[in-house]
Amino acid sequence: MPGNGVEGGGGGEAEGILRRQAARESAARTYARSLPIVPVRARGMTIEGADGRRYLDCLAGAGTLALGHNHPVALEAIRSVLDSGAPLHVLDLATPIKDAFTTALLETLPPELADHARIQFCGPAGTDAVEAALKLVRTATGRGGLLAFSGAYHGMTSAALAATGDTAARATVGDADARVTRLPYPYDYRCPFGVGGTGGAELSARWTASLLDDPKGGVQPPAGMVVEAVQGEGGVIPAPDNWLRRMREITERRGIPLIVDEVQTGVGRTGAFWAVEHSGIVPDVMVLSKAIGGSLPLAVIVYRAELDAWQPGAHAGTFRGNQLAMAAGMATLRYVQENRLAERAATVGARMLTRLRGLAAHHACIGDVRGRGLMIGVELVDADADRDEYGALPAAPQLATAVRTEALRRGLIVELGGRHGSVVRLLPPLTITDEQTEAVLDRLTDAIAAADRLARKAKASGAK
Ligand code: PMP
Repeated sequence: MPGNGVEGGGGGEAEGILRRQAARESAARTYARSLPIVPVRARGMTIEGADGRRYLDCLAGAGTLALGHNHPVALEAIRSVLDSGAPLHVLDLATPIKDAFTTALLETLPPELADHARIQFCGPAGTDAVEAALKLVRTATGRGGLLAFSGAYHGMTSAALAATGDTAARATVGDADARVTRLPYPYDYRCPFGVGGTGGAELSARWTASLLDDPKGGVQPPAGMVVEAVQGEGGVIPAPDNWLRRMREITERRGIPLIVDEVQTGVGRTGAFWAVEHSGIVPDVMVLSKAIGGSLPLAVIVYRAELDAWQPGAHAGTFRGNQLAMAAGMATLRYVQENRLAERAATVGARMLTRLRGLAAHHACIGDVRGRGLMIGVELVDADADRDEYGALPAAPQLATAVRTEALRRGLIVELGGRHGSVVRLLPPLTITDEQTEAVLDRLTDAIAAADRLARKAKASGAK
């Protein structure tokens, strides 16, 4: 790769780049801390570092890369735009590329929504689309409040962050926070009501309904409810389908727009093209980003036309016309559909869950294995600690960190999530092969065993 700054490669070059990054980039950098690698080439599920090492990438751009890195159809789509002489920067002007992307996207969405929908191209990130969705429903309803869930993640800009559950991350959001009513998301393994199963989800629904109907419940009249069908960053927690249907009923009856954030769950990831298809609910607003740009930045909201109370220019932005992302995104949407990759995600995901659950039988530190499609989480716990009053073991964030490190050592990239950062998350591309699936599971199995062994050793020597 001459001229790309990494020729000569090698460990020394990579170390220099990492050292300069640590010295020059902000303290807020994240993945760069836990994954000290310098990617120089990538294809499919494989990333090659400047030091020549190869990794299986189960982070896939935080769930962005439905087709993995540099998929030929995405590259071809990008190349054809470049070769066509089409303008790359067009603000929000109409173009044939945008027209085709919009048609392709609407074709994938639930027809009850798409047939009478409006689409807003937002700034390029998921958080921009969340921000737009919240502004849209506030404008349309004239109400300021918002219903959001414990464990939610919606982004890092002010309103999106206010809707996010992470208390530490929200410390800077100021007043935006006061308008959010936090509701309990069903979390079977650590049920907020101590009952779990369908009982826990039903209590969450009843709590929501009774709070909304209580004139002294303290809820600021809500402009909308924002929810993830599977919480990703919150620890890979799939919401029961019936609970989502209850949320749809509760909001519909009370005239509250339902916003489903499919930034991470979309484009086949959960085993359906959109995660709402599992429950069959039709949201009023869908927030879409990550995979829809075919690895490039793109974010939109699609919403019921009746909500379109915006004045011209009410929501603007310079970067709403990323032609390369629309072309790559359209190619990705089509490829996922034509190759039935949602079904493939469901099959491979189910196989991975089965094997990981088998592994849990041999490792007490694996508290829970859960997921939907290729959104999988392994929650690690301190098996030697006392259980809490509801019988749950404490989270084991240090062990999870050690698993991530041991995985990286074995050539496997995974990230952590969850309330305490103790959930190992797997978000492989939907194109993962059977062979790669086995390799991921083998490496993760080894990494968990090694981290568990190290933790036990450290405990034993500490106890002496
Ligand atoms: N919503 C969800 C459900 C997400 O998972 C994320 C990102 N992980 C976002 C919103 C924010 O997207 P972005 O990081 O592109 O702003």
